[in-house]
Amino acid sequence: MQTVHLASTNPHKLAEFQRLVGRYFRLQPSSFPSSYHPWKEDGLSFMDNAIKKAVLYSLGCSGWVLADDSGLSVAALGGEPGVYSARYAGSQATDADNRRLLLDRLANTPEEGRTAAFHCALAVACQGKLMAIAEASCPGTITHLPRGAKGFGYDPIFLPHGASSTFAEMAPEEKDDHSHRARAVARLLASLPAEAWS
Ligand code: IMP
Repeated sequence: MQTVHLASTNPHKLAEFQRLVGRYFRLQPSSFPSSYHPWKEDGLSFMDNAIKKAVLYSLGCSGWVLADDSGLSVAALGGEPGVYSARYAGSQATDADNRRLLLDRLANTPEEGRTAAFHCALAVACQGKLMAIAEASCPGTITHLPRGAKGFGYDPIFLPHGASSTFAEMAPEEKDDHSHRARAVARLLASLPAEAWS
């Protein structure tokens, strides 16, 4: 079984990736100290950032590296917070601060204007060489108030299309049935040669 290093220190993302790729790869959490950050997240797209993270991180360790860049885009806000999702309310902002700011900015936006989508870009690199990329989205709407205590980030205010629960009200496996990350992982696996992960 191939070992893959995950270029992320986010424990929620790690848990999601363990569920999504744990059957195919031995997933190794980032072994660098959290102060190790050889990339600057200054790309104009999720994919720019994912590729940069995977390639630069892979220069500092042996074997495969999987990097994810993800976030939420709200149509009524011109695509915000987009690539700035993690730091929407400032560089030290908590998830709750980011959600509050988003709800404030949508305060006068009626139901039909609250469409949004989560996006996930994935890149795999090995020793500085890009090996595969994949991208996917999950469309939905932004609720008026947070609902649920599971998950992370914008999960309590995101209602995927066709669901009656927010991501934060869903069991983890139910979130995987809808999520941008699960869809991107499925595409990534399909784009890698089968011998890479079977
Ligand atoms: P990244 O570490 O730069 O990719 O930050 C992604 C940010 O987007 C996170 O800090 C969350 O705020 C948000 N985000 C990405 N994926 C999810 C998700 O599955 N649920 C909730 N928020 C997410």
